[in-house]
Amino acid sequence: MPPETSPPTLKLNVGRSALAHNWRTLDRLSGSARAGAAVKANCYGLGVDRCMPTLVEAGARDFYVAHWQEVPPLLTHVAPEQVSVLHGVLSTQEAACARSIGVRPVINSVTQAKLWSESGGGACDLMIDTGINRLGVAAEELAASEIQSLDVHTLMSHLACADEQSTMNARQLSLFQECLGAVAHKDSSLANSAGIALGPEYGFGLTRPGLSLYGGVPREELAQDIRQVASVSAAIIQTRMIEPGESVGYNAKFVAKRDMKVGVVSLGYADGILRGWGEGNAAFEHEGQALAILGKISMDMIVVDLSNAPPLTEGDWVELPYHLPNAAQKSGLSQYELLTILGHRFG
Ligand SMILES: *Cc1c(COP(=O)(O)O)cnc(C)c1O
Repeated sequence: MPPETSPPTLKLNVGRSALAHNWRTLDRLSGSARAGAAVKANCYGLGVDRCMPTLVEAGARDFYVAHWQEVPPLLTHVAPEQVSVLHGVLSTQEAACARSIGVRPVINSVTQAKLWSESGGGACDLMIDTGINRLGVAAEELAASEIQSLDVHTLMSHLACADEQSTMNARQLSLFQECLGAVAHKDSSLANSAGIALGPEYGFGLTRPGLSLYGGVPREELAQDIRQVASVSAAIIQTRMIEPGESVGYNAKFVAKRDMKVGVVSLGYADGILRGWGEGNAAFEHEGQALAILGKISMDMIVVDLSNAPPLTEGDWVELPYHLPNAAQKSGLSQYELLTILGHRFG
């Protein structure tokens, strides 16, 4: 039987209505600004083809990726002028490619500005570094002729500490406000997901939420409004009885104290369920019953305790709770990592 006809034993479900709800919520919380969408890293691991139609239908018009390779999959869903590439142009080939498809580069340095203009120029976005010291042109560089000659669509900056109560937020805000007069532009943008929750003065013309579209809650203010989008489930592919003193998995880290029924779940660290999940009190669930993870997580398998749901057997499905704030606590991963690490075997 060709492998593509055999049913998958692990599933990533993307809740379309929750995704649409989250975009609309973030758009509303953006006040007079409209919300765009960060769709880099394959929509934070959840899949461009799963997420883009929903985001477009909800009303999103402005999309952000990091790399040029991420552009073609987007163009089956939106027009090129709706897409910006955050890493900008690093070579004349990239500049030529950008111009031929009509996607805007986010210019991040005087060098990139020069490269873009000398290769033919055209509409671009401009990133100003207001303190994160990652990508972006310094405020003092905005007067440079290479910057002044750009055709800037969106002037933007990025917050370093929006998920915290930090004095850095207000400092970045005021520096960005000061920069607005220094370069002609059509639109302006500062806030990521957490930045939207900092208040309407952070909104400018356009916001760039990513994490919270996909269910992440970077600040408590968003907890009530943002819904879970991703859920992970997998089939039990074998059950067995073990006796007191028997161990489970690599390095025999779990040793049974009593007779127990265990199940082997078709999911592992190759799917992004890293070993940190097995070191705390994380559990799978079935109809509200917790099924504790036993021993070390393997590449393709996780063994669970079926004591709370003894009728479960081969072919039954169990769920790994993927509510991001809770899952981050259980797994030791950040909410961002929990999404982007999800593997490629899910059906
Ligand atoms: C990834 C990214 C975003 C989205 O940030 P979230 O914290 O996921 O909302 C916005 N702007 C830039 C420049 C980014 O790199």
